[in-house]
Amino acid sequence: MRQNYAYFRFYGSLNDFLPSSKKQQKFTHLVRGNPSIKDTIEALGVPHPEVELILANAHSVDFSYYLQDGDRFSVYPHFTSLPLGSLQLLRPHWSLTRFVLDVHLGKLAAYLRLLGFDAWYRNDCDDEELAIISDSEERILLTRDRGLLKRKIVTYGYWVRAINPIQQSREVLQRYALWEKIQPFQRCLRCNGKLVSVDYDEVSARLPTKTRRYYREFYLCQRCQQVYWQGAHYSDLQKLLDKITSY
Ligand SMILES: [Zn+2]
Repeated sequence: MRQNYAYFRFYGSLNDFLPSSKKQQKFTHLVRGNPSIKDTIEALGVPHPEVELILANAHSVDFSYYLQDGDRFSVYPHFTSLPLGSLQLLRPHWSLTRFVLDVHLGKLAAYLRLLGFDAWYRNDCDDEELAIISDSEERILLTRDRGLLKRKIVTYGYWVRAINPIQQSREVLQRYALWEKIQPFQRCLRCNGKLVSVDYDEVSARLPTKTRRYYREFYLCQRCQQVYWQGAHYSDLQKLLDKITSY
């Protein structure tokens, strides 16, 4: 039986998913049957949400393209400067940058909330639920699990490379160009709800005595009713913010 071959070259951060024999170089891939480019890319180890552009024989194609003998593919990750004007877009445009995080990324979720970003997180959510939330609420799925990103209904997602939550936060800020959009202390760290400024009288009954005596500025989570003020942990959070945002 005649064997078909395709030729691949993956660019930039997509090489993180490849074995060293395939990193940063052209390689030959034996094509079995009649696979789509999406299935082939994922079989090679790269989750589809990480891919931003596919060129087949120098023409852009979408995920439904079927491999043909002799095809030459260049596969690109997200590049902020990529001119996508006339190229085949791989997914619909989402206007808002908001996230859903897997159960292992609790700290990253809290840090993203601290930075002011909408970060959905629960520590008891299974993979299927996460994928469904990502799809139905148009949230970018952040995960350390490559398999989760390969789920069909995941449109936007990102495999978080770093292990350390501060580095993870920087990675997400960088990947989604969020440095200019940081608005600290706007969201509840516990539940992701938005904070609103409230008068002392509205919350005084719920405050510890010392807090009642020393503080006059308070914020209330609109979702879980947690009260925030600039107490002892505020300076710790400031330090954490400085760590995340300073190189
Ligand atoms: Zn809350």
